[in-house]
Amino acid sequence: TVGAVALDRDGNLAAATSTGGTILKWPGRVGDSPLPGAGYWAENGVCAVSATGIGEFIIRAMASFRVAMLIKGGIKVSDAVKQVVNYVTSLFGPGNIGLIAIDSLGNVASAFNTEVMGRAWGREGMDKVIVAHFPGDPFP
Ligand code: ASP
Repeated sequence: TVGAVALDRDGNLAAATSTGGTILKWPGRVGDSPLPGAGYWAENGVCAVSATGIGEFIIRAMASFRVAMLIKGGIKVSDAVKQVVNYVTSLFGPGNIGLIAIDSLGNVASAFNTEVMGRAWGREGMDKVIVAHFPGDPFP
């Protein structure tokens, strides 16, 4: 999956998720990526979220919408993505989900229960983006 989340200067939030699906998928399988609330969610005033991982689990957790509901309930974006990854891990075990998100103030967060998730972050005025791969890498 390649996912992106963005906040523009007018406060509009956007999310995009693209995927080739999972290996050995059945013909006709629809994963999480094209499903709003599962593979992505964007809602002005709240957040934008993009998900990667095993779509069958991400759909059952409604992972992207769940992040938005937590933020609406007052949880900060960095805690919201962690809580949803922990929720999916508690249901289905590790190694199946990664999330990126941005809130309406431009706070960026990511969380994943895999060993690695490539991610990059930038904002207007920065001369280069910050790139990270491993859990401990400096990254929002
Ligand atoms: N989430 C995608 C799917 O299940 C796979 C991926 O993350 O690449 O179709």
